[in-house]
Amino acid sequence: MSDSVEGQWDHEVDLLVIGSGAGAMTTGIVGHDRGARVLLIEKGDHYGGSSAMSGGSLWVPNNHWMEGTGIDDSRADALAYLQEITAGEVAAEKLEAYVDHASETVKYLAERAGLRMYSMPAYSDYYPRAAGSKPGGRSLDPETFDARTLGDDLLSMVEQNPQMLVMNRVFMTIPQSRTMLTRAPGWVGLIVKLVSRYVLDLPWRFKSSRDRFLAMGNSLVGMLRQAMLDREIPLWLDSGAREFIVEDGRVVGVVADKGGQPVRIRAVKGVVLAAGGFEGNQAMREKYLPQPSRVEWSCANKNNTGDIIEMARDLGAGLEFMDDGWWGPVTVVEGEKNARMLVIEKSLPGSIMVNQAGQRFVNEAAPYVDVVNAQYANHTDAVPCVPCYLVFDARFRKNYPVGPLLPGAQQPDLMIRRLLRDGYLKRSNTIEGLAKEIGVDAEGLAESVRRNNEFAATGKDLDFGRGDTVFDRYYGDEKVEPNPCLAPISDAPFYAMEAYPGELGTKGGIRTNASAQVMKDSGTVIEGLYAIGNCSSPVMGRTYAGAGATLGPATTFGYIAARHAISDG
Ligand SMILES: Cc1cc2nc3c(=O)[nH]c(=O)nc-3n(C[C@H](O)[C@H](O)[C@H](O)COP(=O)(O)OP(=O)(O)OC[C@H]3O[C@@H](n4cnc5c(N)ncnc54)[C@H](O)[C@@H]3O)c2cc1C
Repeated sequence: MSDSVEGQWDHEVDLLVIGSGAGAMTTGIVGHDRGARVLLIEKGDHYGGSSAMSGGSLWVPNNHWMEGTGIDDSRADALAYLQEITAGEVAAEKLEAYVDHASETVKYLAERAGLRMYSMPAYSDYYPRAAGSKPGGRSLDPETFDARTLGDDLLSMVEQNPQMLVMNRVFMTIPQSRTMLTRAPGWVGLIVKLVSRYVLDLPWRFKSSRDRFLAMGNSLVGMLRQAMLDREIPLWLDSGAREFIVEDGRVVGVVADKGGQPVRIRAVKGVVLAAGGFEGNQAMREKYLPQPSRVEWSCANKNNTGDIIEMARDLGAGLEFMDDGWWGPVTVVEGEKNARMLVIEKSLPGSIMVNQAGQRFVNEAAPYVDVVNAQYANHTDAVPCVPCYLVFDARFRKNYPVGPLLPGAQQPDLMIRRLLRDGYLKRSNTIEGLAKEIGVDAEGLAESVRRNNEFAATGKDLDFGRGDTVFDRYYGDEKVEPNPCLAPISDAPFYAMEAYPGELGTKGGIRTNASAQVMKDSGTVIEGLYAIGNCSSPVMGRTYAGAGATLGPATTFGYIAARHAISDG
């Protein structure tokens, strides 16, 4: 931290936004529209952060795109739901601020900034049994965005996580991915259509391997980036903030390293921190998160190293939920930059997850945060659960994708010999043999498989209730009866793959109030300073309301912060 020296500024704006994810861009757009001179600064040489890598969905209760889906929503239902699932750990004013402004934010962006999304009526809230939950509609998926309007600027956007692309290259929307991954009717034609559009994008095909028909996180960020370009809002890359400048207790600017040179930026109305979590910082992971925890297990942007969280703490800001993450079980593929989350394969019928005793420990189809919470809760020195193992059989392997593997029908074992040889994927003709391969208790595994097979026949998982809720079944195989999430593990060979407690980003961060202002532990506000997204304390507390529960708040509190900083008064 340094004090300002009159006349020593290199640059002056009204609103300075640190970071360039979807929340940061929303802040910039809203601030600009309210007449502010805005600047976004980004530490990396690409913009978009984890937001660009993500599914791009936003969880927005009572949103205008729900009209016509037949699902009724209300402020009261949304609040009841959030109150129940956050279990008293999040201030009521903050929950209310979210419910009151989330739909307003997406409506504003739709009407003023070209955001196009649609409601997913079949994508249930993650806790369908909680009061006020909805069977779908609150999760919004970005429509595809034709990024030809961005020109070469697209090449400066962080690339989509390959796990969300067809053949690691071609974009698909969330419902399209579900069609392909569960091999629902029309899936082959859909692949042909998407791949043809990619191949025929000439002459761009000779310039870059990146698909320009964006979906998911790239589409969300692409639309917001377009709105920034239309407004000529500046974005500096290679410009990490490293120090706050404070005057009489108020944050009045920052020192940033712009291409290696220190630049003092004055922010007349406010500084908004939107710099992501600390997923890329091993020391902070060891300090704050449950153990063990590794950077390599994160699916998120590794430039998010928590430096802003530590800077704010040094300024006296409170920190909350630092031991939590947007968890999900992951597989780590050698040579890939990020871990891949096991979202669909853990719900599809004919797989189980087991600890080293060969025992199941969770409803695998439960929300991904719950799976990792259970993994840590069951991890002991005597019976490790980190890693745990995803176990499946030949039928499962043939029909469904698993991590980086395409279904065996398209990519038979002959084509993945290296992964088998390197031990990434273990295989055996017997369950006992497989147990030996992965070092888990053979009797325990045989018993877990036997019980799974019994549950598959009756359609009722008596141990963990897998497939009991509409959320569980979203990624089940609707062709499988009586329970789309349960099938026998009976066809040799049998397979297993390690699964680690990973995340889509860390959750805990700087304490904020309902206006996104940074607060000290004492409850007083640090004037001039706001925080949103994963560097701030989550409005979701320890839970995950539904698909989009991280980006929904990041954009909404960006909207709130910009309006508060650039108030009409
Ligand atoms: C594969 C994947 C799928 C996901 N799917 C979804 C989904 O569908 N819906 C959902 O809600 N969430 C999803 N998430 C999670 C979501 O992407 C993140 O929680 C969200 O993007 C966090 O937003 P943010 O603005 O906090 O951080 P980011 O979007 O990561 O932006 C932070 C930016 O700040 C920059 N930065 C860091 N430090 C500094 C500094 N000192 N100075 C300047 N810049 C700095 C970083 O480089 C980065 O660009 C997904 C994540 C992943 C990885």
